[in-house]
Amino acid sequence: MGGALLAEANDVIIIGCGPAGLSAAIYLKRADRDFLLIEEGEPGGLVADANFVENYIGFPEGIDGFSLRNRFLDHLRSLDIPHVESRVKKVRRLNHHFSIETENGDYESSAVIIAAGTRPKKIRVKGAKAFEGKKVFYSLRELLLDSQIDQRIIVLGGGDIAFDYAINLRTRGHRVTIISRSVPKCLPLLRRRAEERGIDLHIGYSPLEILEKDDSIALSCDFCGEAKEIRGDKILIACGRVPNLEILDSKLRRHLYGKGLPETGIPGLYLVGDIARKRYRQIGIAIGDGLLAAMMADSFLKKRGRR
Ligand SMILES: Cc1cc2nc3c(=O)[nH]c(=O)nc-3n(C[C@H](O)[C@H](O)[C@H](O)COP(=O)(O)OP(=O)(O)OC[C@H]3O[C@@H](n4cnc5c(N)ncnc54)[C@H](O)[C@@H]3O)c2cc1C
Repeated sequence: MGGALLAEANDVIIIGCGPAGLSAAIYLKRADRDFLLIEEGEPGGLVADANFVENYIGFPEGIDGFSLRNRFLDHLRSLDIPHVESRVKKVRRLNHHFSIETENGDYESSAVIIAAGTRPKKIRVKGAKAFEGKKVFYSLRELLLDSQIDQRIIVLGGGDIAFDYAINLRTRGHRVTIISRSVPKCLPLLRRRAEERGIDLHIGYSPLEILEKDDSIALSCDFCGEAKEIRGDKILIACGRVPNLEILDSKLRRHLYGKGLPETGIPGLYLVGDIARKRYRQIGIAIGDGLLAAMMADSFLKKRGRR
């Protein structure tokens, strides 16, 4: 287990400071609860990666993800809600409370709201691992760290995220090619925009290997039994995301789906936002989940005699 206990037991600990965690924190602040928000990276979550958000109510003209993230953080600051910067390693149930092991020590709480989101799914294509972080990326932010303009970027994937990344990169002046194994599942609107912006789209290409050739990265693919090669400077992979559930110890993981989410089969443990959803992952849903879990946690604490 982790290090020293860093704080008195809190009513609630929220893990993850994306829309779901933020929404829970805002409610708990107004309910006068003692709570702690723990975030491993920059607060705001995945929203900052979104190119243009058009389905968040209150912004009829749409808003870029980075600005929306900043609006969320302004809200957090306006209520004086601090967060602890640390990575949660494990959440355990001990008697009638939870123990949260982090990189910087352990915390305790009566209830926990897990809002830790998802991470990109790794692909099993020869060469992908060897070039990861250099020419092959799973995160738009990491890819952009050292990208000059007018690079040739290959985006792998056919969902909303792949198309959103591709449009974002095109807007930044890169030449973009999307490779999709099957007919893209993205919103028709995103596909239309990608085509209007001159993004190349190859459908039915199954990636086989990533190699370095003459200062380029070469992606070899199978297309209906025919060998194809696409050259670029970098590859961005957006082939699905997996929930960050391994922060829960195995005993907790066995009882997650006992009740209707965000409640779990463990009293006082709530699962909210993208981590809780296999398919329907959106900002508004995450915010609703976070709010509902915070209200449920408040009732749970009252029933246990904590005001
Ligand atoms: C490119 C892109 C475009 C999108 N466009 C839209 C859109 O237009 N409209 C829309 O509604 N939705 C959109 N989404 C989806 C939306 O961003 C997510 O549904 C939403 O951010 C989920 O919120 P969340 O709080 O559940 O998770 P996240 O936003 O993923 O936040 C989880 C947080 O938990 C933290 N965390 C993870 N593990 C740990 C740990 N062990 N310890 C501490 N902290 C941890 C992470 O650092 C992160 O900050 C888009 C997503 C992407 C990637």
